[in-house]
Amino acid sequence: MKSRDRLRIAMQKSGRLTEPAQELLARCGLKFRQSRDKLFCFGEGEPVDLLLVRDDDIPGLIAEGVCDLGIVGRNVLREFQLSQPEPGEGLAELRSLGFGRCRLSIAVPHEDGYDGPAQLDGRAIATSYPGLLGEWLRSHGVAARVVYLAGSVEIAPRLGTADAICDLVSSGATLVANQLREAAVVIESEAVLAGRRDLPADERGEIAELLLRRLDGVIQVRD
Ligand code: ATP
Ligand code: ZN
Repeated sequence: MKSRDRLRIAMQKSGRLTEPAQELLARCGLKFRQSRDKLFCFGEGEPVDLLLVRDDDIPGLIAEGVCDLGIVGRNVLREFQLSQPEPGEGLAELRSLGFGRCRLSIAVPHEDGYDGPAQLDGRAIATSYPGLLGEWLRSHGVAARVVYLAGSVEIAPRLGTADAICDLVSSGATLVANQLREAAVVIESEAVLAGRRDLPADERGEIAELLLRRLDGVIQVRD
């Protein structure tokens, strides 16, 4: 791949993380000119450009070297890591960013009640996060069937495609609306800055270091 001398950061094009991510980068002193295709934003001061994509694509873009850094939910980053042959290698969570807070939780039909992981033995659980759910099930010694669904996970129990779900929760309103109750938290999530374990050993690495220092300043002031 052609080497680049500008740092490239991937962020969500449109969704929950978009505005807070833009605000954070602005507070780090970065300014961008939006291009007409709205995929790529050219940085005006520092040699840092933005790529606006679906959040699910961000870890792969970093792993492939298309981008150097990305702002993405820990849930998406961890799920990607677990899908890799060596989950401990490759991508790292460089900083936690304090927005986009939510949790990946297992929820069961309200009338079922919940008295512990063993209750899920032999059940079917629908999720968009098979890696994270699989890890939780193994660590709790539960043999459940994982049903992968790309979306609308919360309606699976009513449709009869699963007995329980594992999905992102923040206020819990979606669970209530679907007559589900939160049973167990699989991971606590928030937006994180993701990058390869080794920063590029060229100018991009230096820019990334500078950005991390500014980010630490911004995070410290906010906390
Ligand atoms: P895209 O089109 O980019 O794929 P999406 O629908 O997957 O968008 P959003 O719903 O915008 O994504 O969520 C992005 C991230 O926001 C999630 O991965 C998660 O980290 C975080 N988040 C915070 N609260 C919630 C919530 N209540 N439900 C879903 N995601 C949440
Ligand atoms: Zn997504």
